[in-house]
Amino acid sequence: MNDCIFCKIIKGEIPSTKIYEDNNFLAFLDIAPVNFGHTLIIPKEHFKDTLETPDEILSELIIVGKRIGGALIKSLPAEGFNLSTNNGEVAGQVVFHTHFHIIPRRMDDGLTHWPKKEYKEGEAGEVAEKIKKAIE
Ligand code: 5GP
Ligand code: ZN
Repeated sequence: MNDCIFCKIIKGEIPSTKIYEDNNFLAFLDIAPVNFGHTLIIPKEHFKDTLETPDEILSELIIVGKRIGGALIKSLPAEGFNLSTNNGEVAGQVVFHTHFHIIPRRMDDGLTHWPKKEYKEGEAGEVAEKIKKAIE
């Protein structure tokens, strides 16, 4: 049995405010928006996160995100948007069905960007080497 809340939304077992749907994707308003119009896009097939989602589906998901982001700017008081996804509990993922957030942004919306750290001499190179070796 699949207890996934987003699968239930796809099946219509839980209500949602849909804004876009095609054969493979569904977009609906986040129930607890960062800003009004905050949208979630999900593939209709269940994958738990980005790493488990096939490349073709992820590519299309981003394209749908681009279209919805454009629509947010056209239709809302929004000058830009954040298109992002949380991967893993430590990154803030709460629902384990792949989804991207599209958050409409305004200059005066009061949200701040992430805090920033600084590399010491040589550290950036060391970190980059580790990451480069692990890319598959
Ligand atoms: P995550 O933290 O996993 O990246 O984001 C999950 C998002 O799903 C949250 O922003 C949360 O508000 C939203 N969410 C959780 N349950 C529901 C629901 O039942 N309906 C809708 N529309 N959004 C939900
Ligand atoms: Zn699911």
